[in-house]
Amino acid sequence: MAGLGAASLLAGWRPRLEGAVPEPLGHPSLAPFVEAARDDLMSMDMRGVSEIPVSPYDTFRLLHHPQRDYKGLENYPMRWERRQEMDWALFTDVPPGGLWNGVPRNQLTLSPAHWMELSAYPLAQFYADQGKDQDPNDLIIKQDLVAYYHAVPEKLGLASRMNEGWTVSSITPGGSEDGPLFHLIATRVSDGVTKELSANFVIYAVGPRTIKRRLDVPGEFDQPYISRHYDHWDDYPGQRVMVVGGGRSADWAATELHDAGRDVTYVMRQPDERHLRLIGNSQHLPYYIRLQSILDGESRSIDARYETTVKSFEDGGRVVLQGDSGEDVVEVDHVIIEIGAQPDYELLKPWGELSLFEGRDDYRLQVPQLKVHDHSFESIDIPGLYPAGYLAENLGISVLGMHATCFPIVADIERKIASRG
Ligand SMILES: Cc1cc2nc3c(=O)[nH]c(=O)nc-3n(C[C@H](O)[C@H](O)[C@H](O)COP(=O)(O)OP(=O)(O)OC[C@H]3O[C@@H](n4cnc5c(N)ncnc54)[C@H](O)[C@@H]3O)c2cc1C
Repeated sequence: MAGLGAASLLAGWRPRLEGAVPEPLGHPSLAPFVEAARDDLMSMDMRGVSEIPVSPYDTFRLLHHPQRDYKGLENYPMRWERRQEMDWALFTDVPPGGLWNGVPRNQLTLSPAHWMELSAYPLAQFYADQGKDQDPNDLIIKQDLVAYYHAVPEKLGLASRMNEGWTVSSITPGGSEDGPLFHLIATRVSDGVTKELSANFVIYAVGPRTIKRRLDVPGEFDQPYISRHYDHWDDYPGQRVMVVGGGRSADWAATELHDAGRDVTYVMRQPDERHLRLIGNSQHLPYYIRLQSILDGESRSIDARYETTVKSFEDGGRVVLQGDSGEDVVEVDHVIIEIGAQPDYELLKPWGELSLFEGRDDYRLQVPQLKVHDHSFESIDIPGLYPAGYLAENLGISVLGMHATCFPIVADIERKIASRG
């Protein structure tokens, strides 16, 4: 997702400011920076802005969305035109949209649809292009969101430089002082064919969920009744289903399976007050209203097991649990493990130990993030490498924020290329 946002800027799409400086950016210390760059917002003095101190990413977040609600296409302060394209390529193992390709089929977003958009192609424009009568202020369902991301490359003319179905399998320092900074190997997922590349800059947008977490208990990978991913309730056979997790993905699975008539055992490490707080804080979302009402004692509820861990998965669907009051064995037809994932920093190993920051946000996602320079989002450890999306220090989960980091990143790259002549 963040990679796609960066790609649109690398491809030459540039915003200018239409009308007055938006009110949230109107502070006398900030507004002159925005005003001075009105014809090419990415030429803004990002270092000056970061010394105010305001994060350039916050500045672009507010330029994209000066207010919470969508107010019509004509009210966006940023207007777009295509200028000169840079020499770029994007490699991704899955189709555009990143992790959204893999979230449950009917999953609704946490935020309004238009917060999930890339600014060069507003979601309202996509709805209009598709003849869809949908409100960008509403939540958006996974299928529609992914359809939007899949439409972006064609709409913005990015497709020819996108290498879909390729994994970047190695990144190493370039070697010579005046040569390219990075040497990369990409491997085609379908047949293992490789290609080698060199680059002066790498935007590292591998996402927060590249390596799935493990329970590390017996049977986790060899019992046939276990799925490590949830898509839709009718994918899983049997009446008795256990969900292991406790975050938003597991909440979604437990709620949907319950409403499909299954008997759900929901196993979580966390204490009940922590889970109930998340549910209580999420009552603006229809699926959390539903989960609350299920747990609030409908006659047929979810069997929620708090402060409980799995000890082992035995033959015949027998799951051994360890709770406060000792061991318990539950018999099930199917188990779904949704315990989250971590970003993959293995590719950066050649640079030694990285300066990491323990990122957490209001939505309870935790991710180790790379420390960056405030004005450019360039890694403080690896010159020329820019963590994008949720991987950059202090970024929250929202697409709105991660998309906004792409502006200072690409502006910094552009400036460095220009200064080298
Ligand atoms: C269930 C869920 C609900 C969410 N709801 C919201 C919401 O409502 N609002 C909101 O703003 N945000 C939401 N988010 C957060 C946000 O949408 C995601 O975190 C966002 O998609 C992350 O974007 P990204 O570009 O950092 O990573 P990703 O979308 O994960 O993209 C990274 C891509 O890189 C690929 N990749 C990784 N390694 C390699 C490699 N070596 N070579 C090639 N490709 C590689 C990955 O397969 C992945 O496709 C949600 C997240 C989740 C999990």
